[in-house]
Amino acid sequence: MTFDYDLFVIGGGSGGVRAARLAAQDTGAKVALAEMNRYGGTCVIRGCVPKKLMVFASEFSKFPEEANAYGWDISLGVFNWKKFSTQLHAELDRLEKVYQNLLTKAGVDMFNARATIISPHKVKLSSGVEKTAKHILIATGGRPVRPEIKNADLGIVSDDIFDLPELPKSVLIVGGGYIACEFACIFRGLGVDVTQFYRGEQILRGFDDQARSLIAEQMQIDGVNLRLGENISEMSRIGIGQDKRIKVIGTTGYKGTFDHVLFATGRRPNSDHLGLEAVGVEIGQKNQIAVDDFSQSSVPSIFAVGDVTNRVNLTPVALREANAFVDTIFKAQKHPMDHALIPSAVFTQPELGTVGLSEEKAREKEVINVYSTSFYPMRTSFAGKSNRAMMKLVISKATQKVLGCTIVAPNAAEMIQFAAIAIKMGTTKADFDRTVAVHPTMSEEIVTMPS
Ligand code: NDP
Repeated sequence: MTFDYDLFVIGGGSGGVRAARLAAQDTGAKVALAEMNRYGGTCVIRGCVPKKLMVFASEFSKFPEEANAYGWDISLGVFNWKKFSTQLHAELDRLEKVYQNLLTKAGVDMFNARATIISPHKVKLSSGVEKTAKHILIATGGRPVRPEIKNADLGIVSDDIFDLPELPKSVLIVGGGYIACEFACIFRGLGVDVTQFYRGEQILRGFDDQARSLIAEQMQIDGVNLRLGENISEMSRIGIGQDKRIKVIGTTGYKGTFDHVLFATGRRPNSDHLGLEAVGVEIGQKNQIAVDDFSQSSVPSIFAVGDVTNRVNLTPVALREANAFVDTIFKAQKHPMDHALIPSAVFTQPELGTVGLSEEKAREKEVINVYSTSFYPMRTSFAGKSNRAMMKLVISKATQKVLGCTIVAPNAAEMIQFAAIAIKMGTTKADFDRTVAVHPTMSEEIVTMPS
């Protein structure tokens, strides 16, 4: 049987573009890709990239105070949202073109259309065109979800932040995960009055307990009104025109009014309206496409990578899954995606960098030794600030291998990348001990923790 394409990719985000480009460029496969929105996907257009640029914008607000302590005479000026937003969107447009050019140069046919799968080897585009392919790869990502409460549509989600016409004066953020905590810090740094509701006992569930407390403490010092054990009970619109606000009553009886309510209450895989059930692709309970270690779905010709599979929802993971898919299917180098010891970072202020197990999770599995340190970094301490940093190594008592590393510090995201290499190689505490420190740095603390 002959097909129009060797590979038809649905979704032009990180995973889809990587797979399409590599299959076409490295193996000469005939490849097409359909994208119904913007190329670059969540990461580039409404996630990691614009978020990180907002982190940078936000962090500048702390510099004048620090600089003054170092002898400068600088005062904090006014943040101009419109100027930043214009520059931000110009950058996102540039990056989108980079993604499109990558596909063009690789010889991938691009369709700016919604694609639906109508048989195991056939897709139908919203233009009405039908194409056949030997393999179909779904890389449609995920989307933010609002909780099922009355008037939830009055709130915004992370996708909407980058298109706000102006910086809000006040915002209520609901949730205690990555997005909620990152944006609480970003908005606070930009001068917004931030309240955060988290329904549980402590934010950042699943991370190291000590790290969670330290970040919560720092966020509160910086002025985030963090309300633990709180959720929205009622929300309604009050005022009109420029005075439009959202009135919220919390589950503890707390009352407040806000310019915006941001729901950062999780994400859902985009597996709907793709025709998957009709062709027999198995969908899991969280709406994810069920795949095996080779990203293959229950229909042999249909594969899926990235957030739509809800394995580990991080851009670099989607990229690696795409690599593994291309190696397996187009390069005859069959290898499963390795989901072990994936480092990640939460871009709070200070940042949280982590790889492997938290102390709590490791303790559930085996007998461990824990080495940790908490200290005042030199730079902010000189400026009279009480910011603390922490580093922790979780060691298997039986093998002496490092099971996990957690760092809370400025630039922890940069530090954890390097720690992750050593830990992925199976390093032991003794290896850390025999590594000479780089002085004076924060990261030297990781090799100077007494055994
Ligand atoms: P998370 O799953 O991390 O957090 C969702 C939060 O919302 C949790 O605190 C959860 O509480 C809370 N929540 C869920 N439902 C409700 C509800 N009905 N009412 C109130 N609170 C609720 O999701 P995010 O949206 O923050 O991020 C999604 C994913 O995106 C992350 O898991 C991560 O994989 C990825 N991401 C990664 C980033 C990075 O690498 N830096 C940055 C941003 C996103 P509870 O804890 O009680 O369940």
